[in-house]
Amino acid sequence: MSDQDYDLIVIGGGPAGYVAALRAAQLGMRTACIDRWRDPERGPSLGGTCLNAGCIPSKALLETSHQYARLRDELAGHGILVDGITLDLAQAQARKQAVVKRLTQGIATLFSTQGVDWLKGHGLLLGPRRVGYTPHGRKNPKELSAEHIILAPGSHPATLETAPVDGEYIVDSDGALNFTEVPRRLAIVGAGVIGLELGSVWRRFGAEVLLLEAQSSFLPIADAGLARLALKSYTAQGLGIRLGARVKEARVSGRSVKVHYLDADGEQQERFDRVIVAVGRRPNTGDLYSDDSGLQLDERRFIGVDGHCRTNLPGVWAIGDAVRGPMLAHKGSEEGIMVVERIAGEATAIVYDHIPSVIYTHPEFAWVGPSEEQLKQAGIAYRCGRFPMAANGRALAQGDAVGEIKLLAHAETDRLLAAHLFAPDASELIAQAMLALSMEATAEDLARTLFAHPSLSEAVHEAALDVAGQALHLA
Ligand code: FAD
Repeated sequence: MSDQDYDLIVIGGGPAGYVAALRAAQLGMRTACIDRWRDPERGPSLGGTCLNAGCIPSKALLETSHQYARLRDELAGHGILVDGITLDLAQAQARKQAVVKRLTQGIATLFSTQGVDWLKGHGLLLGPRRVGYTPHGRKNPKELSAEHIILAPGSHPATLETAPVDGEYIVDSDGALNFTEVPRRLAIVGAGVIGLELGSVWRRFGAEVLLLEAQSSFLPIADAGLARLALKSYTAQGLGIRLGARVKEARVSGRSVKVHYLDADGEQQERFDRVIVAVGRRPNTGDLYSDDSGLQLDERRFIGVDGHCRTNLPGVWAIGDAVRGPMLAHKGSEEGIMVVERIAGEATAIVYDHIPSVIYTHPEFAWVGPSEEQLKQAGIAYRCGRFPMAANGRALAQGDAVGEIKLLAHAETDRLLAAHLFAPDASELIAQAMLALSMEATAEDLARTLFAHPSLSEAVHEAALDVAGQALHLA
């Protein structure tokens, strides 16, 4: 038995940190997780951004707004006539909070059943094996020791000098999830993943939404062909998307915000009821370590790590949003598992090229692996199989026959390389490609697999068949 307080201390209880702590407890390590999140109503709360102010609350509101818009816009087409649909936004927000509460309390229960000590307060890396811990409400830190330390401090919304957040009229993603009224006119600075999801929520609830995007191309992180399809679909849903639009100034004046921006048509000035700033996120590394700890950060203030999440300090690891790679919950969780299993002596690794991304709009946009453009640039010969959802029976029966599925396979080996989906339930459908990728399957393996009929998954099957030019329901 060592004389250290713990085998492992994790700083940060988001999806990266809490998953690492749970896996460590499973492996028999004496583990503590220090987390400082405090909800104004619920108090200390595990789950980090993801559960408290990110993935989960946004999906709760996306679901409510989707149901509302379907009822309002589509049910008549099914022959269901409903009179007088109204939105009770307070109830929608209360439901969202109930979902968050249930999940965050669930993690607290898991911690107590698995024997992870939840230390509520601030954690500071003092050096290898040494952490300062200041409980909420106290001023003086106490020093704790552990053989290993995992830093999982997560991230916070990036700010724009030209559009300073005031928390009421100009908000970040945290504020945008808590509106108590549907804004009549809403501007969103940034047409990335978060901007598109939040824009969808408030558009479906009835707001007039304009997304102002500084870049001239739409979703450059995604496959260009499907991004064009998505742009068309989002625009048809009423999301105004202005590319190459630079916000010069957003200023609260009276009970609205004057936004001054520059686009291809010149200087523009418009008034909005609310503005959401969604221009990315920054790592929470400002108060994470003491100056003499020796921890190295990169030039963007992310914690420097190698391919296995080792920092420059012995026994100190870093995972999640605060290190390089996509800022995604499942990426952080997977890193947590990798690090803990490595501490336990296993050789676990992550295939960073196989991390799925999803935008939870409708239809959903999901992808994994390189785009066609990236394969061309890398000089990798590939074959492409595609299938439109308009030719899928289940999608038509659901009234959801929009989008397309695209699979890319190596031209010689037929190994699946990538999947790009703009389709209903793409977040679920992409799991099939994930399985195929992790099992190093070929497009033919997928094509020779039986899929239930009718199902959206049949479109994945047809796209796999199409890689060899054998799709059956493609004209
Ligand atoms: P975080 O979740 O940010 O958790 C870090 C925790 O550490 C926090 O509780 C923080 O308070 C605490 N902490 C920080 N510093 C200290 C310290 N010094 N001492 C003690 N505690 C500290 N990702 C997806 O994969 N899917 C989605 O659908 C998705 N939707 C999103 C929607 C929105 C609106 C937003 C904002 C994000 C979304 N994300 C989504 C991103 C996802 O939330 C993050 O990638 C994920 O939360 C990162 O996990 P993490 O554990 O690294 O950090």
